[in-house]
Amino acid sequence: MRRFKLWKSASDIDAVLRARIRQAYQDVPLYQRLGEMFRIQPESIRTVYDLSTLPIISKTDLVRDTPEDHLHPNALTRKTQVRVTSGTTGWEVDTHMTRAELNFRRYIFLRRIWFSAGRPFPMKLAQAGSWIEPGPQGEVRHTGTWPLHVVHISRRLSPKQQAAVLAAERATVIIGCPSALDVIAAELPDLDVRWHRPRLIITRGEILRPQMKRNLEHAFRSSVLDFYSAEETGLIAWQCPENPDIMHVEQDACIVEIVDPSGVPVPAGTPGDIVVTNLFNRTMPLIRYRIGDQSEVASKSDFTCTCSRIGTSIRAPFGRPDDFIILPDGERISPTIDTVGLTAVPQRKNPSKGSGVFGPAWIRTRDLPLIRRAL
Ligand SMILES: [Zn+2]
Repeated sequence: MRRFKLWKSASDIDAVLRARIRQAYQDVPLYQRLGEMFRIQPESIRTVYDLSTLPIISKTDLVRDTPEDHLHPNALTRKTQVRVTSGTTGWEVDTHMTRAELNFRRYIFLRRIWFSAGRPFPMKLAQAGSWIEPGPQGEVRHTGTWPLHVVHISRRLSPKQQAAVLAAERATVIIGCPSALDVIAAELPDLDVRWHRPRLIITRGEILRPQMKRNLEHAFRSSVLDFYSAEETGLIAWQCPENPDIMHVEQDACIVEIVDPSGVPVPAGTPGDIVVTNLFNRTMPLIRYRIGDQSEVASKSDFTCTCSRIGTSIRAPFGRPDDFIILPDGERISPTIDTVGLTAVPQRKNPSKGSGVFGPAWIRTRDLPLIRRAL
């Protein structure tokens, strides 16, 4: 089970990569087709440096084909976990994992949160302004056992209600989408209770712009770090606490390349498309997956950062313009908070249905182009 090993060495990464490629190109129809088309010999890929000879896949490949086409045959008979993503490109992709793969992915995320927050013990983590649905327990859900306690705050609560829950919970770390946290932050000065300053705010899911980072730091009275993740892959990279202009790649989970339009890696400092190879998901292998964002390599794999991290780092990704819906009067709507938009545009037609007005409906990222046209 080397794919689940923590603190993987360079030789561990190469060994896991070889296994992922061999299994994908032998067993998964999508890669079998690519293998035939490009006459690929999987055994010729020995290290991460050989990876660039393989073809690139994209979300189009995953949306166009049935799940059986890009899943390992074992996944069709075993019970698998399903995660759903809504991308800014307008398509949703189901990401499939076994329970063990999902647990590893969660562990990687929590480990990085814990280190980034300065190893708090115990740790109370509050998720607000995220894609969280209400559960059987209601709009605020509590999970985990000591020393880790997680509070999940439903996206259906208004920004004011989310701010009140955050103030009451006194979390060690708050994590959420920056646009939604920004809207929640605006409610903090009006709360009746005293604000307990968290150790860290972690943003994810959207681009964190410098001005918004400053706004959030000021409003929450805490430092802010950005995590780069995607539903298809889990955590990809995280902002260095000591050098905020770079993000360290999560090397236990993935390999990141920055490539030109033809799939060839570009030199450090040159912008290009982010391509991710997942190391732990055997159920739905992602090998050279073009994720839809751009960045550039900040430092190569032998680089030692002042935070003592050794490995590849990238610049903060750019290229997701859909973080906010801006209404004609200038009001901003975060796509991760439902209720704001519903009252703001009462007479607009629901673009996803084509008729009627906004009722208790969703505003999903994939609807944004339609909403823009409707406005
Ligand atoms: Zn660092």
